[in-house]
Amino acid sequence: MISTTDLNAALRSLPSVEEVLNAPEIDSLAGHLPRKLVVDAIRRVLDEVRDAMRAAFARGDDPAEMLPDNIPTRAAQSALSLLKPSLRRVINASGVVVHTNLGRSALADEAVAAVTEAAQNYSTLEYSVEAMARGSRHDHCEGLLRALTGAEAAIAVNNNAAAVMMVLSEFAQGHEAIVSRGELVEIGGSFRIPDIMALSRATMVEVGTTNKTHEWDYERAITDQTAMLLKVHTSNYRLIGFTESVAAKELVAIARKENERRRAAGGANSDLMVYEDLGSGAFLPVGDGVTREPTVAEALAQGCDLVSFSGDKLLGGPQAGIIVGSKRCIDRLKKNPLARALRLDKMTLAALEATLRAYLDPERAKRDIPTLRMLTARDEEVRATADELALALSSAIAPDAAHIEVVPEISRAGGGALPMHDIPTFAVKLTFIAGNAQACDEYLVRQHDIPIIARLKHDAILFDARTILRSDEIAEIARALEAYFSTVC
Ligand SMILES: *Cc1c(COP(=O)(O)O)cnc(C)c1O
Repeated sequence: MISTTDLNAALRSLPSVEEVLNAPEIDSLAGHLPRKLVVDAIRRVLDEVRDAMRAAFARGDDPAEMLPDNIPTRAAQSALSLLKPSLRRVINASGVVVHTNLGRSALADEAVAAVTEAAQNYSTLEYSVEAMARGSRHDHCEGLLRALTGAEAAIAVNNNAAAVMMVLSEFAQGHEAIVSRGELVEIGGSFRIPDIMALSRATMVEVGTTNKTHEWDYERAITDQTAMLLKVHTSNYRLIGFTESVAAKELVAIARKENERRRAAGGANSDLMVYEDLGSGAFLPVGDGVTREPTVAEALAQGCDLVSFSGDKLLGGPQAGIIVGSKRCIDRLKKNPLARALRLDKMTLAALEATLRAYLDPERAKRDIPTLRMLTARDEEVRATADELALALSSAIAPDAAHIEVVPEISRAGGGALPMHDIPTFAVKLTFIAGNAQACDEYLVRQHDIPIIARLKHDAILFDARTILRSDEIAEIARALEAYFSTVC
């Protein structure tokens, strides 16, 4: 029977902070890390051990068994982890192109160069060389956005969630905004349309049903308090079967009719506006047929007052939320205090401007912007990458350790875009003779310097060639697998 006396004895058997500090493993840290950080790390490890002892006691196990023999090593590792970057490069062999957990879009070389230039130097961030006086940071991307989307005006903020928040708060705060029940989406990472509505203090008026919303649903819900008809692109899911939704074009017609009525009535009511949250916002057509994402220009051409979309989804730029539309509306947004709170920093602006400029030539955009290149890569290009990877792996792995083959597979656009769109791809499939898929996957993610994110499928690992960025990644995957098999063969 384990008693509290045993627990207390185990707790007392722990070394003191002073004793751990004198251990050789810790002594060697002197000069690399401030003493206070080392002491904190030792305290943390000792606390963990104490907790483990109490937990063991509570389970009826012997707390003394929880005393590790490597307390100084653990403390040293914990302290040293502060010196290592936490945000690190990874290799994405998952086949999900816009992978939100992996940073969504890798930037084009021109965008990276622009970021470096802006970061290392002073810049014209809020300075106009023509006026030789203060300028506006909103000016850098507005001309390009107008040219690329056909909009009268544009503004970019921190991300699309911020864009939605700002539009609702400027135009619908204290008023009603009508939205279809079929479009009350959750985008992941805690972005939910009803929550953003509440936060912006707009009154949400839900209309229609989950699967069907008709024009008359909107018409019947309009009151003198209605400021906005909101359309949300159901990015990450599709309703199929017995469904109906109202296109932006029809919402625009409904709003026009209502605005004529309001003017004829001579009231002081402001205009009813139509805003579409497009989510991904492609500039070029990606996907095909019914699964194709609408382009920003197409959405605007339907007559919406405002359209917003992300900078780092299908667009392939930095994290940003872009709002385009009428000059009257954008001017109001520029004056909203949220525009200051949600503004882009100079590095993001530099990356966004360079990315947008690449779109002036669609062929250049498809070549230079990695996200777009991967989404539009032709079968034979992906096949060539897969063959190259298979070849590299066959020289790194002994034939009696694993079986290597190139197989047809399906990639995904990710980022909540094109959820129904299967993108045919080629993957290198590794079936294990020595070791096993789960252990290898763990090794690639946890043990390799550059974590490699692949796909586990049954007892095999798949490396999707579509999301391999460059051939140095192929060499890196081969090195990692060579190292893994050296631990099991
Ligand atoms: C992704 C998405 C958002 C959020 O955009 P972020 O750039 O991730 O902030 C908002 N609305 C829709 C429809 C989306 O698809």
